[in-house]
Amino acid sequence: MQKVRATFSSCLAVLIIGVLAGYAVMLLPQYAEGETISSSPTITIGSPAQQPVRIDANSSSEAITIRVNGVPYTYYTTVSKSTPSPALKPLVTAPKVPTGLRVVSIGDGQLDVAWNKNSESDLKHYRLAYKPAGGSYKSVFTTGTSYSLTGLENGKKYTLKVKAISNSGADSSYCSFVYATPKATVPSVPKGLKVVSVGDGQLDVAWNKNSESDLKHYRLAYKPAGGSYKSVFTTGTSYSLTGLENGKKYTLKVKAISNSGADSSYCSFVYATPKATVPSVPKGLKVVSVGDGQLDVAWNKNSESDLKHYRLAYKPAGGSYKSVFTTGTSYSLTGLENGKKYTLKVKAISNSGAESSYCSFVYATPVNSSPSPSESKVEVKTLAPGTKYATPLYVINSGKPGPVVMVVGGVHGNEKAGYTAARKITEYQISRGTLLVLPEANQLAIKAGRRAASGYSDLNRSFPQTSSQAPKTALSRAIFNAIKEHKVDWLIDLHEGYDYYKNSNTSSVGQTLIYYPANSTRTTAQAIVNDLNKGIKTSNQKFTLLRYPVKGSLARAAGEYLGVRAMIFETCSKPALSTRVNYQTQAVNKLLNTLNMR
Ligand SMILES: [Zn+2]
Repeated sequence: MQKVRATFSSCLAVLIIGVLAGYAVMLLPQYAEGETISSSPTITIGSPAQQPVRIDANSSSEAITIRVNGVPYTYYTTVSKSTPSPALKPLVTAPKVPTGLRVVSIGDGQLDVAWNKNSESDLKHYRLAYKPAGGSYKSVFTTGTSYSLTGLENGKKYTLKVKAISNSGADSSYCSFVYATPKATVPSVPKGLKVVSVGDGQLDVAWNKNSESDLKHYRLAYKPAGGSYKSVFTTGTSYSLTGLENGKKYTLKVKAISNSGADSSYCSFVYATPKATVPSVPKGLKVVSVGDGQLDVAWNKNSESDLKHYRLAYKPAGGSYKSVFTTGTSYSLTGLENGKKYTLKVKAISNSGAESSYCSFVYATPVNSSPSPSESKVEVKTLAPGTKYATPLYVINSGKPGPVVMVVGGVHGNEKAGYTAARKITEYQISRGTLLVLPEANQLAIKAGRRAASGYSDLNRSFPQTSSQAPKTALSRAIFNAIKEHKVDWLIDLHEGYDYYKNSNTSSVGQTLIYYPANSTRTTAQAIVNDLNKGIKTSNQKFTLLRYPVKGSLARAAGEYLGVRAMIFETCSKPALSTRVNYQTQAVNKLLNTLNMR
C-alpha cells in the first residue's frame, strides 16, 4: 500500500475551523494517511494539543476526527480527486521503487549487488534487505546504488530486495525479489606436476603456481603401488617426499585449496619410483704392510656423500670369506694365518643399504716378520760333489711356507761383485720360504779370474736351449738339477758388465736387469730397477730393465723350461767394488723384501 503525505489546503482548513467554532485552530501542514501522529502535525485549539487526525487521500470522502479536550469530533468532508482544489494534495511524493536490482558477482560468503539510481532529488538512502532461505531479513542502508553483502553463508539461497527512502522518511515499496547463492571460489586445478628428482627413498616434486589470490595451500597426495594415499599440505609449489620405499612405484597428484576451504580437483597422476643410489666400486685396494698374522690394507675414499661404510672381505686359500665393516679407508686384519695366501676385496655400502660390486681381488700372505734366528736352518750342500766343479749350495730354510729363491754368483769368474755379494747373502736370515745361495757357481773360473777357465766352455752358454736339450756340462747339469729339486720359484743370477748399458758406444749390459718374461716377473724386476735408480744421480749409470736372457744362459733355461721367475742382474764393473757389491745386495734385498722374506 502506497503511503501518501498530504496537507490540508487552506479551504479545508477553513471548513475545520468552521466546525470547531470558538477555538483557535492551527493545522500544521503534514500528516500521513494510516499513521498515528502523536505530536506533529498537531492541531491546537487553544490548549491542549489535539489528538491525531486521520485522512485518506485516496478517498473521495474523508472522516476527520479531532479530539478536543479528550472528546472526539468527527467531521466528514468530500474531496474530489478530479478537482484537486480544495482537495488534499501530496506534499511529499514517495520515491519510486528502485529498478534494476541485480547480483553483480557471487563470491565466497559474499554477494555484490547493484541497482539503478533513483531520479528523486530528495532521496536520503536505499534500504537493501536480504535473507537466507529459512531465515529472517536483515537490512543495510546505503546512499549508493551498490553494495557488497559479506559474511553470508555459502550454499544458502538469499532473497534480496531494495527500496528507496526520501529525506522526509517516505519510502517506496520494495522492488521485486532477486535471488542468489554465495559460494566459495574453487581454485583451478594445479598444472605442471612433475618429479624433479628421484632419490634414495625420496621424490622431489614441483608444480606451477596457481593464480588465485585467496589460495590457502596445496594438497599433495601420494601412494605406493598397492598402498593408500597419504597427503602433505604446503603453501609452496614444490615438495620433497622422503621416507619412501625404494623400488615402489608411487602415484602422485596435487590440488589447490582456497582460504574458504574450496578445493580444486586433483591434477592428472604422475608416477615415479624412488631408488637408492648405488655407490661406485671402491678403487685402489692394496696391502700396505704385511705382518705377523696381519695384513694392513687401504683403499681410496669413495666420493658419495651418503656412504654408510665399506665391507672388506677376506679369505685364506681354501677357506671361506669373512667380512669386516669400516667407515674408514684402511683396516688392519689381524689373527690371520701366517703363510696362507689371503684373497681380499672391498665394496661400498650406502646409507640406504645399496651396495657396490666388490673391487678386483688383491692377494697377500701374512708372515712372521720378526723370526728368531734359530728358526732359520742353514744347510750347506755340495753341487757336483767329487768333481773338479764341486761347489757349495747354501740352503737357508725359514721353516715356514713361502717362496723358494735362488741367488747365484760366480757363473763368470771375472765378475767379482756378483760372487762377493752372493757370499754375503749366504749369511742371510729369512722369515719365510727358502733361500738357496750358490755363491761361487764356477769355482774354476773364479780361481782363474776369468769368464771361463782356460779350456772350459762358458758356463752361461751350457744350459739347455730347447725343452728337450740336456745341460752341456756336469756343472750346468748339477745346477739345473738343484733348481728342479728345490722347486725354485725365483732365480737371480749376479753378473757384471765392463761398461754402462746406456753408453751406446759399447754393447755391454752393465747396469741392467734382464728378466725372462713370464708371470709377474716384470713387475718385480721393475721394482728392483726403480729401487736401485733412486740412489743413482748420473743418468747414464742408471739401471735399465731388459728382457730375454741370452739362450743357453742359466736364467733363460730356468725361466723358459722350468717355469722359474728368472733374471740376470748386471752391475757395471767401472765403479769401486764396494759400490758394485752394494748394488748387488740391494737388488737381492729388494727381491726378498718384495716377497716378504726378510
Ligand atoms: Zn757374466
